[in-house]
Amino acid sequence: MTFSLELNEDQIQLQKWVHDFAENVVRPVAGEYDRKEETPWPVIEEAAKIGLYSFDFFANAFADETGLTIPVVMEELFWGDAGIGLAIVGSVLGVAGIMANGTPEQVMEWVPQCFGTPEKVALGAFCVSEPDAGSDVSSLRTKAVYDEAKDEWVLNGTKTWITNGGIADIHVVVATVDPTLGSRGQASFIVPPGTEGLSQGTKFSKMGIRASHTAEVVLDDVRVPGSLLLGGKEKLDDRMANARAGKKGGGQAAMATFEATRPSVGAQAIGIARAAYEYALQYALERKQFGKPIIENQSIAFMLADMKTELDAARLLVWRAAWMGRTGKTFEAAEGSMSKLKAGRTAVWITERAIQILGGAGYVDEHPVERWHRDSKIYDIFEGTEQIQQLVIARAISGIRIE
Ligand SMILES: Cc1cc2nc3c(=O)[nH]c(=O)nc-3n(C[C@H](O)[C@H](O)[C@H](O)COP(=O)(O)OP(=O)(O)OC[C@H]3O[C@@H](n4cnc5c(N)ncnc54)[C@H](O)[C@@H]3O)c2cc1C
Repeated sequence: MTFSLELNEDQIQLQKWVHDFAENVVRPVAGEYDRKEETPWPVIEEAAKIGLYSFDFFANAFADETGLTIPVVMEELFWGDAGIGLAIVGSVLGVAGIMANGTPEQVMEWVPQCFGTPEKVALGAFCVSEPDAGSDVSSLRTKAVYDEAKDEWVLNGTKTWITNGGIADIHVVVATVDPTLGSRGQASFIVPPGTEGLSQGTKFSKMGIRASHTAEVVLDDVRVPGSLLLGGKEKLDDRMANARAGKKGGGQAAMATFEATRPSVGAQAIGIARAAYEYALQYALERKQFGKPIIENQSIAFMLADMKTELDAARLLVWRAAWMGRTGKTFEAAEGSMSKLKAGRTAVWITERAIQILGGAGYVDEHPVERWHRDSKIYDIFEGTEQIQQLVIARAISGIRIE
């Protein structure tokens, strides 16, 4: 097999198609949705109409053998706008939760329902974080109790910072069945549309990605049928019995899933970083001070040289990890976490430098770079903070359980 970093013909076409959508549909309304802090329903509906927001699209993109299609799509879409980008792909978080733990039948039944149809779009949400369980997801307090007589699970608790929380049609909720067992005592449940007892709590006002809805999800005696426990009860009972007997668990499998999904989040950050780099380059070529374009000063030109170098380095880490995930390579050094760590930091740094290059113009909302800087910061925080990525990498390279 020959080594190549070239995208294939299908990927190049897809890249162009998503780029056109980002440029013509997303960018023109990005500032408006950031200001209004509203879910961009017309954009999501348009994405559904052209087939970008659909089960088929994501199923095909994930099936690509190189692993690069998903990062390429993410980069283009988030180049358009990260808030709107997340409003479009936020459902994929719920989808990933179903795919990671569901039986094939559950996947076939529920994943398409996270997207709906072009006539009636639907949203999915993945509800893990809680007020007292953010980075430490082993300490969830949301309880799931089995009511054997009715073959139903009863969920109680509060989830926080949930993308699409309360406005989603399908909520995938992770809850604890036996808190003494940490993560191995937890299970994921589908909460279907219109289920009684699930409601939206506070909707958060955010620094960035403001077109993406983030809210608390309150679960008050939410009852779901036994069949909505992802993976089934037998598997959960076996896992808990093994944990109680002190046998080793499937932590490795969960870690491998994270490593495989983190590059797609990194690719979103790359999209923001590229937008800011391109904008700053253009500005530096056009803006004149002291009788010449500012790019003719080395301090500006070298800044842009560094920005482009960092951008490409971060993208290469993202592509490597995406390729490793898709081709089943072992993540010896937590390469997925590495890619997300680098991409998040790079996006924050490049967007900040872009503000510097624009000077005063970078600080006001007539130009999008201040928004891109605000948007970029979330990539150091969600899907595992900067420090948690460092922890995962440090443990992988040392073999020591560093705290
Ligand atoms: C906009 C947005 C959208 C989100 N969407 C979702 C979603 O859809 N679903 C969902 O479940 N969650 C979601 N989250 C939650 C997100 O995943 C958490 O915010 C994140 O995991 C961090 O948890 P925390 O905020 O409680 O921070 P904490 O865990 O309290 O961390 C605070 C600080 O301590 C550091 N820290 C914590 N533990 C350690 C340690 N062991 N070593 C070193 N440093 C440490 C962290 O790095 C951080 O700097 C979202 C959050 C935001 C802001």
